[in-house]
Amino acid sequence: MKFYQPNTLTEALELKARLGTDAYFLAGGTDLVVLRNRGRVKGEHWIDLSKVPALEGLTEQDGVLRIGAGTKHTALESTRFAALAEAAASVGGPQIRHRGTVGGNVGNASPAGDVSVALLAFDAEVELQNLGGARRMNLADFFLAPGKTAIAADEIITALYLPADTRSAWFKLGKREATAISVVCAAVGVNAQGKAHIALGSVAPRPTRVPQAEALIADKGLTPETAREAGRIVSETIVPITDHRATADYRRDVAGKMVARLLTQLCPN
Ligand SMILES: Cc1cc2nc3c(=O)[nH]c(=O)nc-3n(C[C@H](O)[C@H](O)[C@H](O)COP(=O)(O)OP(=O)(O)OC[C@H]3O[C@@H](n4cnc5c(N)ncnc54)[C@H](O)[C@@H]3O)c2cc1C
Repeated sequence: MKFYQPNTLTEALELKARLGTDAYFLAGGTDLVVLRNRGRVKGEHWIDLSKVPALEGLTEQDGVLRIGAGTKHTALESTRFAALAEAAASVGGPQIRHRGTVGGNVGNASPAGDVSVALLAFDAEVELQNLGGARRMNLADFFLAPGKTAIAADEIITALYLPADTRSAWFKLGKREATAISVVCAAVGVNAQGKAHIALGSVAPRPTRVPQAEALIADKGLTPETAREAGRIVSETIVPITDHRATADYRRDVAGKMVARLLTQLCPN
């Protein structure tokens, strides 16, 4: 295996364009190394992104928060973006949060990706770049299937963008308090116009939104009653699987209750 360490975004993109699908971007490595050890990733070339400054950091401008793809979970934990901060704080243990990045969480496209679910509640956009330029797409459309995204072979994830005035709430149910992949996780965001975004993890093949429940809040406004009704719609709409962590029935029930509780927390006084 060959290891590369570019110092700029252009160098990283030139390497990817030259090496193609046999090359993987390596951020914190907390997913990629595990996948390689299990034989599920076979790429011969690893392009380490840890020395690319353009991918680092959080910036806020004109009401929009930009999160560089290389931002570590630890950097999100202390922010005022409640769902993001709590989701980041719930990832693995301290060592994982010091290495793992937002771009890696999104790029890995796990149905249980905690930070990915939180970003959906902000209706976030993902920025993708190749040597020809950058494009942005809604994050909800980026996730296609477990481990599969809409990124092209020559692209890199550079950043996530989200409205900074969204109020949000988060809940994760795992089999234990720490270092636990979720049984179900939920994030809810309510933007300045009162529009709600409802996101769930571990209930579908990808981090997912529930537009039917969002439409109810858009139609009738957010009240304790519509919060309960949205929870009921969530339970009826999602199609989770039964696996070693929980049954589908349990996930449906818990997801609905979580969403109702989170929406209630965000009800205007
Ligand atoms: C013990 C343990 C516990 C964990 N617990 C949790 C948990 O509770 N919740 C959770 O959500 N996750 C958990 N994870 C998974 C992992 O830590 C996170 O998904 C993390 O955010 C991945 O980030 P990374 O920087 O390590 O990604 P990497 O492993 O470096 O990369 C992951 C994927 O994204 C791609 N990628 C990375 N950066 C970019 C980029 N800028 N552009 C394009 N592609 C990119 C890589 O090529 C790879 O395919 C856990 C992992 C371990 C080992």
